[in-house]
Amino acid sequence: MNPVVYYVTLSKDSPKTLLTDKHLKFLLSYGSNDDEYDYCTTEYLRMSGMYWVLTALGLLGKVDEINKRQFMDFINACIDKETGGISASIGHDPHLLYTLSAVQIACILDAVSELPVDDIVNYVKSLQQPDGSFAGDKWGEIDTRFSFCAVACLSLLGRLDAIDIPKATEFVMKCQNFDGAFGSLPNSESHAGMVYCCIGFLSIIGELSRVDADYLGWWLCERQLPSGGLNGRPEKLPDVCYSWWVLASLTILGKSSWIDTSSLINYILATQDVESGGFADRPGDIPDPFHTLFGLTGLSLLKVPGLQKINPTYCMPQDVIERLRLRPQALS
Ligand SMILES: [Zn+2]
Repeated sequence: MNPVVYYVTLSKDSPKTLLTDKHLKFLLSYGSNDDEYDYCTTEYLRMSGMYWVLTALGLLGKVDEINKRQFMDFINACIDKETGGISASIGHDPHLLYTLSAVQIACILDAVSELPVDDIVNYVKSLQQPDGSFAGDKWGEIDTRFSFCAVACLSLLGRLDAIDIPKATEFVMKCQNFDGAFGSLPNSESHAGMVYCCIGFLSIIGELSRVDADYLGWWLCERQLPSGGLNGRPEKLPDVCYSWWVLASLTILGKSSWIDTSSLINYILATQDVESGGFADRPGDIPDPFHTLFGLTGLSLLKVPGLQKINPTYCMPQDVIERLRLRPQALS
C-alpha cells in the first residue's frame, strides 16, 4: 500500500507576485451574472459569499466599488421577522453563521444603524444552551464555531452582556484537548478551524490567559508542510484557508514568527489563478471567493505590500475594527 501523500510541490512557474488587478476583477464579477452555475449553486451561503467578497475588496482598498444599497437591501430581505435571525438568502431559514456575516457586512459598510439590533441580539441569545454552548439555528447543531459567531456578533453590536459569558467560556474550555488544540465539541478531534474559533472567542471576551500559548503555538506551527502551506489537522493536505485559521490564531497568540513566513507567502502566491484572478485551495485548482479572501487575509497578516491590515480576531479590515473601537486582547 502506498503511503498517504499529504504534501504538494510548487511549480517553478507558479505566480510569485500579488496579481492585484486580476483579483479585483474576479471579486467584482462575483454575482454580476446571476445565471452562472457557480453563483446559482452557492445560494445556500450567499450572505457569507457577500462578506468574503466585501472583506477581500476592503483589503485591496476598494470597498467603494460595490453598491452599498444593494448589499443592505439584501440583508434586510434576509432578516427573519419572527426570530430576528438572518438567513443566507431570501426565503431561507435564519442561522447564526449568516447572522454574523450580515453584521460584519453592515459594520464594514458603516450601516449598523440600519439593522434591527435588539432583534438580532435576542436571536443570538435564544441560541445559548444550558451548558453554555450555542446552537447554530433552531435545529440545534452545537459547535464551537457557533460560540465564536455568537460573541463576535454581539461584540460588533456592543451587546456582549446579553449572554452568559462564564457559561459560554466553560463550554469552550471543555473542547480543549490534551494536545492544547480545540475541537468542535468536548472530546472531538483537534482542528485548526476550531482553534481559530476558540482563540477568537477567548480573545473577544479577554480570557486568552486561559490557554498555554506556547503549547498551543507549537501544535499550530506543526501545521506547516514542506510546500510552505498549512493544513488543518495532522496528515492532511495544505489549503490556503488554513493559512488563515492557523496564522490568525498564531497572530492572536503573539506567535506568528514561529512559522516560516517566506515559504508560506510563496505557497499562498502560488495558489493564484493567473488567467481569471482569485485564489484556490491549492496551486492549479479552481479559484473561488472563499479562498480568495483567505489568501488575501493570510498575505495581509504576513505584511505583503499592497494590502490593508486585517484584524486577526474578527477577520475584518483593521480600520473598521478601530472605527468600532473594539480592542480584542492579545497575549503579546
Ligand atoms: Zn479550504
